[in-house]
Formats: sequence, C-alpha cells, structure tokens
Amino acid sequence: MDEFALIARYFAPLADAGADVVVGIGDDGAVVAHRGGELVVVVDTLVEGVHFPAGLAPAAIGHRAAAVNLSDIAAMGAVPRWATLALTLPQADPVWLAAFSQGLGAALASADVALVGGDTTRGPLTVTVQIIGVLEQPALTRGGAQAGDLIAVSGTLGDAAAGLALWATPPGDADRDWLVQRFCHPTPRLALGRALAVCAHAAIDVSDGLLADIGHILEASGCAGEIDLPALPLSAALRRHCGSEQALHHALGGGDDYELAFTLPPAALPALSAAADRAAFTVIGRVVAGSGLRCLDAEGRVMPRDMATGYRHFS
Ligand code: ADP
Ligand code: MG
Repeated sequence: MDEFALIARYFAPLADAGADVVVGIGDDGAVVAHRGGELVVVVDTLVEGVHFPAGLAPAAIGHRAAAVNLSDIAAMGAVPRWATLALTLPQADPVWLAAFSQGLGAALASADVALVGGDTTRGPLTVTVQIIGVLEQPALTRGGAQAGDLIAVSGTLGDAAAGLALWATPPGDADRDWLVQRFCHPTPRLALGRALAVCAHAAIDVSDGLLADIGHILEASGCAGEIDLPALPLSAALRRHCGSEQALHHALGGGDDYELAFTLPPAALPALSAAADRAAFTVIGRVVAGSGLRCLDAEGRVMPRDMATGYRHFS
C-alpha cells in the first residue's frame, strides 16, 4: 500500500466535509471558508534520513522546512501569513538550534510569515511546519486542467535531485555547489503562484518529480497530457555536471525542485508573460483528452515511461 492508498483507506473517510470545506484532502493545501473569507492550510514533515541527509546544515533544514510549505501555499495561489512548528529533537544543542532557527526565521521572514505556535519533543530529528495562508481570489487547485491547455513549469528541473546526490562530495566546484544549494535552499514561487491564481486552470508544486506531479493534475482533472522532452528547462550546471541522459532522468523523476507545474489556456500566456518575469516559466507540453501522460521526443515520437517515476513513501 503506497501513501496515497493509505490516506484514501484510513483518513479520507474522516473527511466528512461540511460546506465550509472548499477543498479537502487531495490538493497541495486545504481551503476552508470562515466569516466570508477563505484560508489555505498546509503541513509538511521533514524526517532526517528520509527528506534530508543526516548531517545537513541546521540552517538548511530550517530553510527547507519553511520553503516546502511555502511552496504548497504558492501552488494554491495563496498568500502565506502564519506558521506553527512541531520539532522533535534527539538533544537540545544550542549551536544547532541557533542555526536552525536562523534558517527557519529567514525563510519565514522573507515571505512575511509569523511563527505563532508549535510543539517541542525529544526523539529522532523530525521537523513539521504548518502554514496558514489567505486567498485573495478562488484557490488554484489540481483539478481544473482542460484539454487544449498548455502545460508549463517554473525555473529549471532536476537540480535538487542532482544536488542531493552530490551533497556528500567535497565543495569547491561551482556547478556542484550551485546544485547542492538548489537542494538545500529551494525557492518557493510565491509571486508566480499569485499571478497564476488569476489565469491558470490548475497547479501543483513539484515535490515528488515532474511526471508524478503532473500526473496528479491530470488525474484530478480527468485529462491526458503530453510533455515535449526537448522543451524541459534544464540548468547549464545540471547539463554540464550530469550529461544529458542523467539530467533528463533527474528532471522527470527527481523530487525536491519545488517549482510550480501548471496548466493554462494559450490565450492567458501573454498576460502571464507580462505579469511574471519572462524567464520564470517554460511551456513544456499540452493537456489533451483521455487519460495518462506521454513524453514525446524531438520528432514527436512517444518515449517509454520507465525513464522516471515520482518518489513514493511506503510503495
Ligand atoms: P504535497 O506533496 O502537496 O504535500 P501530499 O502528496 O503529501 O501533498 O499529500 C496528498 C494529499 O493527501 C494532500 O491533500 C494532503 O493534505 C493529504 N494527506 C496526506 N497525509 C494525510 C493524512 N495523514 N491525513 C489526511 N490527509 C492527508
Ligand atoms: Mg505540494
């Protein structure tokens, strides 16, 4: 049973949603209505040895714990406001705690988010951050993609997977150091998410791998998709460091990029290009009728899907 089957079997039955639950289990965040406004709630856990390597710099752990949640807020098109922190620590090391809280605090402050509570316990290092955001317009969900939409993605893909693989190697090489930073310091795409909220049909953040995460959009929307492999945005550092085949593998299946993948009608492209930095996103494919996700090569031939799948806990 993978994590999605587990949630569907044991926890979805608890989601007896009232009318004030606008979006329940199954999206990047939940949307709840209260007193005429809507809030987005997200929560993500980082476990040492699972989500980050043992020995990762505490400032980077703090940054990532905030950034992965801010990324889910971005994918919903919301504005983050308040955070809580549940921290489980093997011991209270003041040097570690000073660096961790500095990394967490800087990431929260850069998004104008206040820490308003939490819980502190002893045990294996585990960091859970919850963020609550507000919506200025209806939330951007995974379920709105339509045949005829373009599929696009922000930033570059695969850097974080390559960076994680390189993390234990000695620093000094500029490409290696940049890739490792892409893993340690993901950038939540909050401004783009807000711009998408008024023009995109569907969005998700790329946490499990591009194919898996676009697959979630297509499944939620009841559509099929095509990805043009030559169009994938790959950084120069990734290409130089990994070679093109491994770079493609990381870009399609590697998690942890925390870029936004989204679909939008072609007519919305000029407005988004004007609102967002032109370099902020790349069109990589299209939504079509049917089901499933196909990858096409430069000649438009369908490529085998065994190149990459997303990361799953418990599969
Ligand atoms: P993301 O990668 O965007 O954080 P996940 O893949 O972790 O999303 O989760 C998929 C969906 O399942 C989300 O809507 C999440 O809120 C929900 N979910 C995950 N674990 C649980 C749980 N234990 N109980 C209820 N809902 C859950
Ligand atoms: Mg997400």
